[in-house]
Amino acid sequence: MADPKGFLTHDRELPARRPVDVRIRDWREVYEDFPKPALTKQAARCMDCGIPFCHNGCPLGNLIPEWNDLVYRDDWREAAERLHATNNFPEFTGRLCPAPCEAACVLGINADPVSIKRVEVEIVDRAFAEGWVTPRPPERKTGRRVAVIGSGPAGLAAAQQLTRAGHDVVVFERADRIGGLLRYGIPEFKMEKRHLDRRLVQMEAEGTEFRTGVNVGVDVPVARLREEFDAIVLAGGATAWRDLPVPGRELKGVYQAMEYLPPANRDLAASPISAEGKHVVVIGGGDTGADCVGTAIRQGAASVTQLEIMPRPPAARPGSQPWPTYPMLFKMESAHEELEAGGGARVYAVSTTEFLADEHGNVRALRLVDVEGPATGFRPIPGSEREIPAELVTLAMGFVGPERGPLLTGLASLASRDFFDARGNVARGASYETAVEGVFAAGDMGRGQSLIVWAIAEGRSAAAAVDEYLSGRTALPVAVPPTARPLV
Ligand SMILES: Cc1cc2nc3c(=O)[nH]c(=O)nc-3n(C[C@H](O)[C@H](O)[C@H](O)COP(=O)(O)OP(=O)(O)OC[C@H]3O[C@@H](n4cnc5c(N)ncnc54)[C@H](O)[C@@H]3O)c2cc1C
Ligand code: SF4
Repeated sequence: MADPKGFLTHDRELPARRPVDVRIRDWREVYEDFPKPALTKQAARCMDCGIPFCHNGCPLGNLIPEWNDLVYRDDWREAAERLHATNNFPEFTGRLCPAPCEAACVLGINADPVSIKRVEVEIVDRAFAEGWVTPRPPERKTGRRVAVIGSGPAGLAAAQQLTRAGHDVVVFERADRIGGLLRYGIPEFKMEKRHLDRRLVQMEAEGTEFRTGVNVGVDVPVARLREEFDAIVLAGGATAWRDLPVPGRELKGVYQAMEYLPPANRDLAASPISAEGKHVVVIGGGDTGADCVGTAIRQGAASVTQLEIMPRPPAARPGSQPWPTYPMLFKMESAHEELEAGGGARVYAVSTTEFLADEHGNVRALRLVDVEGPATGFRPIPGSEREIPAELVTLAMGFVGPERGPLLTGLASLASRDFFDARGNVARGASYETAVEGVFAAGDMGRGQSLIVWAIAEGRSAAAAVDEYLSGRTALPVAVPPTARPLV
């Protein structure tokens, strides 16, 4: 512990966000730079706890007190080593993770937690800037071939670990570019894609092969894949979205969030589905909804309203969500700040009952009602029905599991036992193995809709299982078993 009084002398601090009226005119990340002396103070707040609960909060088991100490002591290179010891892609988690480590930080019991995520991202950005992130190709090749299906964080983490273990790894991705939701779900203002691209350069130099535009199960039959590869890692995500089957759902202008966000991310200047000049309603109060809000504002929406069926969450931890659990709190994400600055609103405890059409079959308005709930099953409150203008609607209501396309149905037909679990995800044994010999599953495809940090943790762990399956032993680390769950 570098500074025994750091947590007493310094308050928690984060970098400022760029002014709203400036940042909504571009797609760049919203945060200003954080000066080094300010970061040193934040690292100094870490108490180097005897039992560091931050470790328990983080599925990757990140060595947080170690890198806080190293940053404080100005040993950035070693800090970058320790960071990469448990996390293949700290530049993704440092920007995008909701930081269960911070929710579990011991300092959080009676003060503000350590700014762990900010320290993480500053270390990895410096490591790239200094040229410390170099390819680490294997010393020996095994001659075994592994197919990874899906190039989101789970697939990329598995691929990098397996490539470094000496296997020949091919990542198949049906989209035109690599990255999964990191590429086409998460907007540029949360993570500029250059961070993804520079990591892919490292992976290619290490020997990982990427094949885009290949829908496995359709373009490459499952049988051929099994013939050509010694093991398969399924990392196709949980892409089957939850819908809103109310009257008018079929109208033009009502989209799923994952129909709206990918074209916006593909072409920042001219998405074919633009909110420009339109009254936009985002249904769903979570992070995907916030991504739609920030995107619509940057496209020049006339107004943006975000609807949520749940009541407004509390601002501080309620007794029912004590430390070190991850609490459901009222959050002011950057997109929410932009929403409020533009006169938009977040409306809680409402349910959409109907979409209304203009004479051309376009959505023009949305009918909603206040609801009581959730204990009463979201009972409508009589007399609260009303209409709001809605010329573009995005549904950001979560995902129900992986798609049952030819890939999974083809594999399920070969399975000796249940290929899917009770929630409809791909079932895994203790070593991430599915019910088909030589086929493993990691990330949202096995866990259901989750977080990037869980996807990376699962990708690393599944890689260890595959390496052991192929080589009879492994030196790759296991971050979590497939049954691990967040602290609740
Ligand atoms: C809009 C949005 C924003 C989010 N923001 C955050 C955030 O800020 N922080 C956070 O922690 N989490 C966030 N999440 C959740 C997070 O992105 C996911 O949990 C994570 O990406 C899951 O990783 P994955 O590798 O399992 O799957 P994915 O990232 O979904 O990648 C799966 C990939 O597999 C491909 N694929 C599927 N089937 C096939 C096939 N048959 N052949 C070839 N390729 C196939 C898909 O095209 C896709 O590219 C967000 C989710 C969404 C939808
Ligand atoms: S729990 Fe918080 S204070 Fe303790 S070691 Fe982890 S980051 Fe530092």
